[in-house]
Amino acid sequence: MTKEEIKNMKFERASHVVLTSHINQIFKESIPVNWGEKDPKKRGPVIATISEKENRNAIGSHSGSYTVYRALSIAKGDFPADHKPDLENTHATSMIGPHDSWKNSDSLVSIDPWGGHVQDIFKEEIKSGLNIKPTIAVTQARLQLPEIYDAIEKGRLKPDGKIITENGDVAVTKVALEPVWYLPGIAKRLKVSEGELRKILFNETGGMFPELVTRPDLKVLLPPIGSSTAYVFGDVNKLADPSVELSCRVHDECNGSDVFGSDICTCRPYLTYGIEHAAKTAQNGGVGLVVYFRKEGRALGEVTKFLVYNARKRQEGGDSAANYFKRTECVAGVEDARFQELMPDILHYFGVKKIHNLHSMSNMKYDAIVGSGIEVVNRISIPDELIPGDANVEMEAKKAAGYYTEGDIKDTSDLKDVQGRKLEE
Ligand SMILES: [Zn+2]
Repeated sequence: MTKEEIKNMKFERASHVVLTSHINQIFKESIPVNWGEKDPKKRGPVIATISEKENRNAIGSHSGSYTVYRALSIAKGDFPADHKPDLENTHATSMIGPHDSWKNSDSLVSIDPWGGHVQDIFKEEIKSGLNIKPTIAVTQARLQLPEIYDAIEKGRLKPDGKIITENGDVAVTKVALEPVWYLPGIAKRLKVSEGELRKILFNETGGMFPELVTRPDLKVLLPPIGSSTAYVFGDVNKLADPSVELSCRVHDECNGSDVFGSDICTCRPYLTYGIEHAAKTAQNGGVGLVVYFRKEGRALGEVTKFLVYNARKRQEGGDSAANYFKRTECVAGVEDARFQELMPDILHYFGVKKIHNLHSMSNMKYDAIVGSGIEVVNRISIPDELIPGDANVEMEAKKAAGYYTEGDIKDTSDLKDVQGRKLEE
């Protein structure tokens, strides 16, 4: 198709807007999704592509928040609106599952467990013209991290030519997972009615998806949020074997620290220490798992996060551990909006039953994991020498608020003495 033809098609589409609440849009012919059904053929594919709207059986669209960029691309005339992906050779580098958890509509409500293997499972349906897209992709990679080179230099890690190459690269399996929400299951998890959840989702997105309120028959939503990524060290399918030692870090995105090395928090040190331990466990015959969730600034966003930093540092008496959580709540309305209730789904996707070493000091994460039926043996916090100077405010505040620690906890009067750097320093 030429660029001109694409552009013409675009205008044709734009002039014929049919609201999703319109009676003609209620397609009774689309393949139903029977969430939790153990046979993937009977479960049915999740169809959230925009081409051939009559086949859609889900609300929302693929690629999470990037769906908006796709729209811009189509508007500009760069992207053919009727594009169907050619999935040849895209299949997963490792077969994951199926695990018992996949058949339980309560334990997996935010991931489509079959979403990584649609190329094989729904081969005929795709061949017959249905536009079915994977929501999970599995590939192989190598990591090159300065912290890992440093751990090798200090003798904490040793290259083995397999998990860690002679030049210090770490071999991993990378799994990208798009959120696919089964609304009745999410409602149950959050202890609200499905109707109430749908109404609030509709309102809080500025009415982005009318089907949330007009199509109660559609139970699956692909929300416009970031995806998650799992980095697996060692054999992916060993994650499901409770007798194999598992070291795990469930990490929430922090662009400032993770990418740019900003020293106000401990996020990157936690992440890289988690990777170090995960690689080491895999070298010893176990398996490592590091999960990265796109939940910037405790899922409040980076703008809110930076406002809080300023408010913390400008308050009377300076930035102190004593007022750490109070300032977040004043600006954001809530201390933390991460809702760890959905986080364990990714662990259940891999069939995890037991975590031998959990790298986290967060009780919210720990409670969510244990509450979902996964056993946790040891909780690991990072060594003191890995904590950046300005991050001591966060560390001491968290420990005093009941976050897990192996070390001493400061009492309220001492917390005032844990001070962060001033804005002008
Ligand atoms: Zn951080």
